[in-house]
Amino acid sequence: MKIIKTIIILLAAITLFSCSETETPERPNIVFVLCDDLGYSDVGFNQRESNITDIVTPNIDRLAEDGTIFTSAYAVHPFCGPSRAGILTGCYPHEYGSQFNLAFFVEHGIDQNEAYFPEFLQDAGYYTGIMGKWHLGESKGYRPTERGFDEFFGWLGGGHLYWTDQLKSVEESIEVMKTYPHDSTKNGSYDSYKMAMVKDTSFVPAPEENTYMTDLLTTEGINFIDNAQKAEKPFFLFMSYNAPHTPLVAKDEDVAALKAAPYNINFRTEKRAMYSAMIYALDKQVQVLVDALKERGVYENTLIVFMSDNGGKGPDELDGRKNSPLRGRKGDVYEGGNRVPMFMHWPAGMKNAPKVYENVVSGLDLYPTFAELAQAKIPEDEVLRGRNILPYVLNNTDARQEPYFALRVNSPNNWVSARRGDWKALTVKRGEWELYNIKEDIGENHPVTDQPEILEGLKKEAADWVKTHRMPEWFDSYVTYDFEQRWNEANMPAWDETFPGCGFEKSDE
Ligand code: CA
Repeated sequence: MKIIKTIIILLAAITLFSCSETETPERPNIVFVLCDDLGYSDVGFNQRESNITDIVTPNIDRLAEDGTIFTSAYAVHPFCGPSRAGILTGCYPHEYGSQFNLAFFVEHGIDQNEAYFPEFLQDAGYYTGIMGKWHLGESKGYRPTERGFDEFFGWLGGGHLYWTDQLKSVEESIEVMKTYPHDSTKNGSYDSYKMAMVKDTSFVPAPEENTYMTDLLTTEGINFIDNAQKAEKPFFLFMSYNAPHTPLVAKDEDVAALKAAPYNINFRTEKRAMYSAMIYALDKQVQVLVDALKERGVYENTLIVFMSDNGGKGPDELDGRKNSPLRGRKGDVYEGGNRVPMFMHWPAGMKNAPKVYENVVSGLDLYPTFAELAQAKIPEDEVLRGRNILPYVLNNTDARQEPYFALRVNSPNNWVSARRGDWKALTVKRGEWELYNIKEDIGENHPVTDQPEILEGLKKEAADWVKTHRMPEWFDSYVTYDFEQRWNEANMPAWDETFPGCGFEKSDE
């Protein structure tokens, strides 16, 4: 017995040795493309089962089809800021009080005790950068270059205008900041969207030629890649495009191109035309990035991950978006709120991966996946709610151990969902829950009523999950929204009413 054990250990040692000698690939570069409010059916590769013909994304589709398409990918949260916080921390935003968006120019930011994974990538020798939207804190100590990124080019708030000639000058932007912190939405002026671009921590002048934001961010992303190469480091590039978030602004030439041959699209509204053209512009810029990777000889060993931070905003007829066949839209815990388009593409490392991966993944999985690829050292006490999905994707097996949860504290009712495998439990009312078989009923049209054990089980797991949550540290803009007032009036979080029978004490009246 002892001899057999020794032989096994020896064999294992030999296998390990030979792997490290011959098969360990070089650590990949990582390009993470995160779109803002891009709906599930707003890309060609997700339209196989829908009749949408007015979205044109040939370059994105080619990458997706050469790589692995994720059909059950979920953002961490149904809207912007908390979703992004969840990606960078690897934990649900509720666990550190970031359930709401940050208002413009406020002093808050994501808890500094929560590490962002790019810090560990830096420690592991990666060059890290983010281009575009931040939305995780504008004050000193919360900004990208203070939290794990070597380079930042973009804006610190939640949105931005698309043409650089509409932005304030550096001097005007500095004037606005003198009144900081303040709530710029109180005049409906959206000052934040007009601020000059920020490079690292300083305002910088706009390019001399009026430039469309999607193009500008790509140019800066490519400059970043050049800087990484000069530093002779592998890189992590976070392309945080604002497209197709509002305001809906496209290039005239892109709208015209879609209306002309070979596409000849007859759009149902001009808003839809504008929206489609914004995505068409994004598609072209993704190809510019790909070409840049190829020209620099790093395309083969670059992992590209494409995703959206939440579902398409709606309703369709007002904003031009489509989440069909999903129910609901940005902000919801129905699938339209947080189920998003996603693919991974990595020639050197995922050649043998399946074309389509149908199991649940979420933005929570990116941190552990990227960290492991970078061979980054993660502190032992670091809490992570996702896992490195790559081995599971390669084997086409389910990576998730816990359900994937979504919770929008939307007083007076919490909106909660829990998905495990084919099943999803959800509530948007006090105490009333529904169960859906998502695999068979992607549109959430037919509640399943004869599986009470499955429903109660998911509800109980969701109830246990909320016990890890903290009270919100902020409530978004107090002028535009009345979230804090409604929270207090409704005696939130009101877990006892959301999860009846799950052991919560009745809230104090
Ligand atoms: Ca968003």
